[in-house]
Amino acid sequence: MKAVLVEEPGSVNVVSMPDPSPAPDEVVVQVGACGICGTDIHIIDGEFPPTVYPIVIGHEFGGEVVAVGKDVEGFAVGDRVGVDPTLNCGACYYCQRGMGNLCERWNAVGVGHHPGGFAEFVAVPERVVYPLPEAMSMKAAALIEPVSCVVRGFHRLQPQTGESYLIYGAGPMGLLNAQVARYNGASTVALIDINRSRLERAKQEFGFEHVATSLDELRNLAPRGFDNVIEATGVTKVAERAIDAVKRRGKLLLFGVCPPGEKASYDAFKIYNEEITILGSMAVLNSYGPAIDIIAAGAIDTDRMVTDTYTLDQFPQAEAHVRSGKGLKVQAAGTNA
Ligand SMILES: [Zn+2]
Ligand SMILES: [Zn+2]
Repeated sequence: MKAVLVEEPGSVNVVSMPDPSPAPDEVVVQVGACGICGTDIHIIDGEFPPTVYPIVIGHEFGGEVVAVGKDVEGFAVGDRVGVDPTLNCGACYYCQRGMGNLCERWNAVGVGHHPGGFAEFVAVPERVVYPLPEAMSMKAAALIEPVSCVVRGFHRLQPQTGESYLIYGAGPMGLLNAQVARYNGASTVALIDINRSRLERAKQEFGFEHVATSLDELRNLAPRGFDNVIEATGVTKVAERAIDAVKRRGKLLLFGVCPPGEKASYDAFKIYNEEITILGSMAVLNSYGPAIDIIAAGAIDTDRMVTDTYTLDQFPQAEAHVRSGKGLKVQAAGTNA
């Protein structure tokens, strides 16, 4: 089969390798579509410490079951499925306490040390495989994982119906957060980005009328700030300044992946005096199933979220496209999509 192999940081190639065969507890999925994520770019650039090289990347994918191991009971050849890439060990301190996303032996499909979805086929344990609703396209299936990260963020945030939201970043993750906020009963959803074309798209294509390049432009809309501020740029300076947008007793969710080691400084008195909460949200935890359900219910405009589709052979072009910052979700598909 063909697969996108990152040999070592900086070396990424479409290579030919043996088709996987399933271990007793695994199913083999023929990949229908796989999305490129910022994490894939970090892995290619050697900026994601947990990755063990060489690795076949790709952790946002759906496909069709083509083989099942002898102990698999829940799936059969021909089933259309999505895959939660999380491969927590189930036995460490955190896993035993229900915090599998914080596993001490952390691993994930296409990210840690298990081959991923930028391949024609991928073998994964049955426990991370989910059946897809009949009407869900492969394009939408490859969006479940990023949406499941957003759902995890909302499980952390625990917002109330009728609250206001400000999202920093109008890229793919910012727009997914904004759509989940709207679906979740938001009174107001505003977005800030320095890229005006992204703001224009958020407004014209996704119907978010409150867009701005700085917080100052939103002071009339929310003179006291916002109940929920979600940082989805991964820029440490933005994570720092985002505190200025939080209303008294409001919450700041650090959703974007900032570079490790960089420091943000906050006015400790303000956090005390205004009862502000700052939260982190890490990947996926019990949120892949709910992500399938809200996508099936229409929470996300999946057609508009996927702006560009490439074949597996065209991975270098797809990667260049993501790096250019143009478009939203870029997907590269397996053979049958
Ligand atoms: Zn991702
Ligand atoms: Zn564990």
